[in-house]
Amino acid sequence: MTDVLIVGGGVMGLAIGWRLARAGVETTVLERDVADCDRPSGAWWAAAGMLAPLSEAGFDDPHALAFGRASLDLYPRFAAELEEDAGRSVGLRTEGTVIAAADRDEAAWLRRQWVYHQELGLPTQWMGGDEAREREPHLGPRVPAALFAPTDHQVDSRLLGAALRRAFVARGGVLREGWEASRIDVDGGRAAGVWARPSGAEDGAEERIGARRVLVCAGSWTRLLLADGATATAAPPVRPVKGQLLALEMSPLLTLAHVVRTRRVYLVPREDGRLVVGATSEEAGFDVRMTAGGVLDLLRDSWEVLPGIYDLPLLQTWAGLRPVSRDGLPVLGATPVDGLYLATGHGRNGILLTPATALAMADLLATGRAPDAILPFALSRFG
Ligand SMILES: Cc1cc2nc3c(=O)[nH]c(=O)nc-3n(C[C@H](O)[C@H](O)[C@H](O)COP(=O)(O)OP(=O)(O)OC[C@H]3O[C@@H](n4cnc5c(N)ncnc54)[C@H](O)[C@@H]3O)c2cc1C
Repeated sequence: MTDVLIVGGGVMGLAIGWRLARAGVETTVLERDVADCDRPSGAWWAAAGMLAPLSEAGFDDPHALAFGRASLDLYPRFAAELEEDAGRSVGLRTEGTVIAAADRDEAAWLRRQWVYHQELGLPTQWMGGDEAREREPHLGPRVPAALFAPTDHQVDSRLLGAALRRAFVARGGVLREGWEASRIDVDGGRAAGVWARPSGAEDGAEERIGARRVLVCAGSWTRLLLADGATATAAPPVRPVKGQLLALEMSPLLTLAHVVRTRRVYLVPREDGRLVVGATSEEAGFDVRMTAGGVLDLLRDSWEVLPGIYDLPLLQTWAGLRPVSRDGLPVLGATPVDGLYLATGHGRNGILLTPATALAMADLLATGRAPDAILPFALSRFG
């Protein structure tokens, strides 16, 4: 019997597990894949890793902006502690982000964003086309204007996932990889563990793993796990939203100094010389196949603002599933089933929101009280 059993060893499950293990709470994480940089897995493996609360600030989500900014503030310490426990880098880079307008229409949209940022006191800076090209010389001659978001950064999400895996185990957490949870064991109205089997095995191979509390961090698959039987009231309205990405190989002649994004596409330069280009946003269920149209859109939209990418070698393409809730905000905290908790629905900002989510959820599981920061994200808001 473990104290806390976490289903899903993506960034959420492992980060919360790591914080719990550091606090001396006996924690087991169940993951059907292997959290390894080189193997395709959950959304964390696919993600571009932008830490971008300013660039992502919408007009109607003050809670998301506040939570995102709080999480960004936590990142330097979170990354340093994680790197120490894991003995490896997470690739945190802090050069800021250039948000470029591809044409006049986008410049007008960007101006509205900037005015809104000014009202909120956010530190984004307006740049004309020439000033933008001084900051990021590879921007094309037709870019009419841009914003600079000096505090929007990036982390290598694959390195982050692999570091969390190591750090969790180094702190005494039990990681059961290659195990898939098939349902939650509910006894007398209370979560008492999960039924699980080795990934790919038949139904008969199920084993019960007992626990005092169960936390589900199964990303886009969370609803599938909970929708039937005794846990139906705990199933959050979270669905997969597909994103396709690709990686180009930067050359000495074209190496970006910042993350560059437009309204439709982003380009994220990595330490290892890759330029990650993403991402589409598609309602395609659990289908993660690449499409010709997806690749075409990504390349055309990038080429419009960075014409120099035309000659860069294309290294890799991949797709992943963002866990997106009905209102686009995370779903964090307790459920109507005693002892059963959720941390999911982080949508397109889960890498950014990992430190704040881990801190708050570990606090909730250790003390039984939900910190104020996550009250707006309770499952009960869906009625
Ligand atoms: C294309 C794309 C680009 C993105 N870019 C960014 C970005 O730039 N910045 C940012 O902040 N965020 C980004 N995100 C979002 C971010 O990746 C997600 O919000 C985050 O990874 C969610 O973390 P998670 O742990 O909840 O889910 P996941 O990362 O999906 O992990 C869930 C894990 O649960 C496991 N699992 C599922 N069901 C079971 C089961 N029954 N038993 C055992 N294990 C199970 C899965 O194998 C998986 O490993 C992006 C996502 C995508 C897809």
